[in-house]
Amino acid sequence: MTTPDGSGLLSPGLGYVDGRWTAADDRRTFPVTDPATGKVIAEVPRMGAAETVRAIRAAEAAAPAWRRLSSGERSRLLRAWAALMIDNQQELARLLVREQGKPLREATEEVRYAASFLDWFAEEGRRAYGEVIPPGLPGTRMTVVMEPVGVGACITPWNFPIAMITRKAGPALAAGCPIVLKPAEQTPLCALAVCALGERAGIPAGVFNVVVGDSEDAAVIGRELTTRPEVRKISFTGSTAVGSLLMGQAAGGVKSVSLELGGNAPFIVFEDADLDLAVSAAVSAKFRNAGQACIAANRFLVADAVHDDFVAELARRAGALRVGNGLDEGTDIGPLIDAAAVRKVGRHITDAIGRGASLVVGGGPHSLGGTFVQPTVLADCPLDADICCEETFGPVAAVTRFSDEAEAVRSANDTPYGLASYFFTRDTGRVWRVSEALQTGIVAVNTGAFSSPVAPFGGMKQSGLGREGGHEGIADWLESKYVCHGGVD
Ligand code: ADP
Repeated sequence: MTTPDGSGLLSPGLGYVDGRWTAADDRRTFPVTDPATGKVIAEVPRMGAAETVRAIRAAEAAAPAWRRLSSGERSRLLRAWAALMIDNQQELARLLVREQGKPLREATEEVRYAASFLDWFAEEGRRAYGEVIPPGLPGTRMTVVMEPVGVGACITPWNFPIAMITRKAGPALAAGCPIVLKPAEQTPLCALAVCALGERAGIPAGVFNVVVGDSEDAAVIGRELTTRPEVRKISFTGSTAVGSLLMGQAAGGVKSVSLELGGNAPFIVFEDADLDLAVSAAVSAKFRNAGQACIAANRFLVADAVHDDFVAELARRAGALRVGNGLDEGTDIGPLIDAAAVRKVGRHITDAIGRGASLVVGGGPHSLGGTFVQPTVLADCPLDADICCEETFGPVAAVTRFSDEAEAVRSANDTPYGLASYFFTRDTGRVWRVSEALQTGIVAVNTGAFSSPVAPFGGMKQSGLGREGGHEGIADWLESKYVCHGGVD
């Protein structure tokens, strides 16, 4: 399959509704660009309300048959889909780089990670057990069966444009829920490529639909997805502002909502930490995907005693990272997604320096131009700087000193967000105390990498509702039905 421009982007570059590749009703399209070159790589349909309603109806129509399939049959289809993703990982990864910008190595990891959600939930679907309760009323038997919540609407972001789809589609489909997906306008081609592989795997028409549109279409599509009565669940990953808007829209129909929103992850290094380990973890937790991750370390809180050593080593490692086109061998950091992202990074750096932070390495746009930015380290950054209060989504590490454990924990929790936190220590008592004290859905102790389909991923506070991954991930797509059988004795 190729896109209309013949560039071989794994799908026809059209939306996918009820098992058919479809253009927008009015034939309008929008351009998808490569952030590394600024060049247009494909034109994709601008779909709107009518196409979205058709996709919702197709999902609704497909629901009874999909739900009636045996769990083993749904599992087989999901595993076939995962296998096709692995078979096509090189092509998918290259497409991901062209559309999103991350280095090819990271893109390949993402494709494998994405396929692992389909594999994991293929199995979880077979184990979505109900229960038999010792009867609480005379003459009865009490059972609980787990049922699919119904048609789901999934809205996904551009930063992990493949994994964020399978992390939703895997549990939804395994649970028996058909879905309508609206991928981010920056990365529709990845979504359509994943969809094309799902079609090849044999996912039936109507079970997985993709409605694509430009940024101006997002609100129109989003309104249908959140207000149509056929849709019973919204699963969203993106900004807190849009998540809260969608939650408000879904409230009218009392729909189930799962939200994976923004973060402001603290990364705490205590004086007894293994500094080499902490710095290596800092490099990956901060600079992976050029810092464009909701779990990216956003505030480095470092004990006075080790602050200078940590900063010096982090700056050395950051300065050595190679910035470039993600397709080039040896690239560690690709371009940011767009010019607005570059402006935000620039604003955060200027604001921090204006408030007294010192620039240790990097500091602004990269000589490659476009949306390439230098990996940057700032030291002695005051905690009221914008960079410590907002999600930076760029390759800038802001380091702040602290003097004791209580102060570190207080600062770490001083944010409306609560997605991920990281801390480094060799004191086992402190591992327990600090893990318990941190108000985040994920706590990484002595590691910078924790994402896995087997574990629950999600936030506290304004970072979201619900969990994706683990056995919790499928629970969000199931509803328990209590069946009370009377007149038995
Ligand atoms: P980001 O700032 O990371 O782009 P957004 O929350 O704006 O995060 O976008 C995440 C997803 O939400 C994208 O698919 C985007 O198109 C979609 N989106 C943005 N605004 C709306 C809206 N008003 N209704 C529905 N979806 C939206």
